[in-house]
Amino acid sequence: MEYLIGVDAATVRRWLEGSAAVLHEQRDYLTQLDAAIGDADHGTNMDRGFSSVVEKLAELDGSEPPGRILVTAGSTLVSTVGGASGPLWGTALRRAGRALGDEATFEGAALAAAFQAALDGVVELGAAQPGDKTMVDALEPAVRALKERLDAGAPTAEALASAREAADEGMQSTVPLQATKGRASYLGERSIGHQDPGATSTALILRALELAVATEQ
Ligand code: ADP
Ligand code: MG
Repeated sequence: MEYLIGVDAATVRRWLEGSAAVLHEQRDYLTQLDAAIGDADHGTNMDRGFSSVVEKLAELDGSEPPGRILVTAGSTLVSTVGGASGPLWGTALRRAGRALGDEATFEGAALAAAFQAALDGVVELGAAQPGDKTMVDALEPAVRALKERLDAGAPTAEALASAREAADEGMQSTVPLQATKGRASYLGERSIGHQDPGATSTALILRALELAVATEQ
């Protein structure tokens, strides 16, 4: 009975490790996307940041609750990534971790609240709204889909699959947009026709979460 199974520290570790693996695999692709409308470092930024997170996780003693793991991961991203994505994803993970508190396991409602806190943190820090051609274009619809599906009674794994789909659509929706935040905004109209690198890595991270939870159930 899926709805009785909570997400725990092992799931969160699998998510972060899965994110690190896919960001490493897709490093060159993400960097190419950033070469078109930024400074060609997004793949290396995310790969370096998340591989540092995995190294940091190995130093923890294994008794930390999911919220603490996320706070540690977020702080690691902030301190290891120089680009905009480090502080943005660092804040997202720290806020999510703080929202989860010290519980050993959590259910869908707490997961949705943690994601909302992550999105709020990103918006507070970067002031981007949907349509600005940033990671918010993937994260905001994902959080919305997650909440809607959970509120409708869907099991966590299914709600996360919908969130990942919404993130993918949001990522694709950035192609025709003109960037109004971050480095890509310096290009003005020339940013049109390119997929946003941060929205792309966000969709990959959501996919890693879908897989981490799906393998548990
Ligand atoms: P930098 O732009 O400093 O080189 P990265 O290349 O690692 O950093 O990340 C670029 C991504 O960061 C963009 O594709 C975009 O999705 C995201 N981003 C940039 N500025 C903002 C912002 N103000 N709010 C939200 N996301 C942003
Ligand atoms: Mg860049």
